[in-house]
Amino acid sequence: MTIQLFNTLGRRIEPFVPIISGRVGLYTCGPTVWNYAHVGNLRTYIFEDILKRALEYAGLDVRHIMNITDVGHLAGDGDDGEDKMIKGARETGRTVWEIAEHYTKAFFADLDALNIRRPNVACRATDHIDDMIALIERLDRKGFAYVSGGNVYFDTSKFDRYGELALLDRHGLRPGARIAIDRNKRNPADFVLWFTRSKFEHQVMVWDSPWGVGYPGWHIECSAMSMRYLGEHFDIHCGGVDHIPVHHTNEIAQSEAATGKRWVNVWLHGEYLLAEKRKMAKSDGNFLTLSVLVDRGYEALDYRYLCLGAHYRSQLQFSDEAMAAARVGRRKLVDRISRLREGGVASDLHAVGEAGARYLSEMEAYISDDLGVPQALATLWTMLRDDSVSDADKLAAAFRIDEVFGLDLARTSAPAENELEKEYRDMIAEREAARERKDYARADQLRERLAEHGIMIEDTQEGTRWTRR
Ligand code: AMP
Ligand code: ZN
Repeated sequence: MTIQLFNTLGRRIEPFVPIISGRVGLYTCGPTVWNYAHVGNLRTYIFEDILKRALEYAGLDVRHIMNITDVGHLAGDGDDGEDKMIKGARETGRTVWEIAEHYTKAFFADLDALNIRRPNVACRATDHIDDMIALIERLDRKGFAYVSGGNVYFDTSKFDRYGELALLDRHGLRPGARIAIDRNKRNPADFVLWFTRSKFEHQVMVWDSPWGVGYPGWHIECSAMSMRYLGEHFDIHCGGVDHIPVHHTNEIAQSEAATGKRWVNVWLHGEYLLAEKRKMAKSDGNFLTLSVLVDRGYEALDYRYLCLGAHYRSQLQFSDEAMAAARVGRRKLVDRISRLREGGVASDLHAVGEAGARYLSEMEAYISDDLGVPQALATLWTMLRDDSVSDADKLAAAFRIDEVFGLDLARTSAPAENELEKEYRDMIAEREAARERKDYARADQLRERLAEHGIMIEDTQEGTRWTRR
């Protein structure tokens, strides 16, 4: 199975060819641990997990590195705004180290709940300051860095290919560029490699460097850490689309200026999760976390299922209705798999027979075509409904392709037919009470809420009866 991927660098779909046969070096930009990840961030990590699973499914040995940003990420993607970690500390009264520890743990708990496989190495920026300083020194020796106003900057005019990834016109102004003009910069696109003169008070995370006591710019961490763990030339680098114009553009400039050669072969970017038609974002307060969804009665995997329904390069609109539909969809899938298993088929050991194999190869073809997960998922449904495929084949093919979907179909089982989750039992009881006091508007509202969750209500002489849709 050869996987075709859309490379942002060049904007075209290409067959993926690893640098070293059979192996893949994968770097994905990780979280800034100043707050909980929101479900938009998590969409990107789910996409990256699917990519990794698809590569592994294709027989490749993936070495995956993810950074944990615990210093240097300012509120703006450029060099403007306050350090996000300091902001988090100020707002909560904790130290930056406590903040980093707390949110890093919370982040991995979210990944685990979503069945996202952990990276081989999750490296903290603050553990790699020496690597960053060494890289900046290398840039300095080659004439790509300059000191101005106390900070060390990267001189974008010295790097010919600057903006290649984002298709920026390097002589013009950059689209979406920050508004604040930094008078210390020689060119508007230049960016900070090392801050020594912090404009912020209480900067507690500082280190000694050849340019004075200070702290690194945000972009340098990804260049330094990816090279440490994957070498100076590796296969795939990912992130969300918001990283194309600034963060990844600057990562490329630093890395390739330092080494004088191509750094990353393939760049993949996940599209946004939207909330009320705009990007879900922490900085403007327009965000939801996974634990809020869980508090609302969803399971983390319902959210994963929602994400599988949209291609990673399409925007996905988040809504309560979409979430409820995802829950119903996943529950039906789990139900169906559970029922097939009741037949007692030793599916895990079973080789997929011809009819199942046809569907399996169709699903594989979709996945290998730039991760066509929504189509593969639709094919899984078609197969499950197809009477000409044996139960054993259905199960075997479903479990096989679930290695990519990551829905945990082999382990998750449906709640027993005659059992209803507590939150729904409570809603039914509340509805009965509303009917008794003749509050039919409330009763109808509860009936609709239950229906949204796939629970259908019928009033009988013996009381309320429910079925799952
Ligand atoms: P951050 O913690 O802000 O550095 O973001 C972590 C990851 O989430 C990055 O890869 C971002 O590109 C991505 N991201 C941020 N907002 C969204 C969103 N609304 N939808 C999808 N991905 C996002
Ligand atoms: Zn990065």
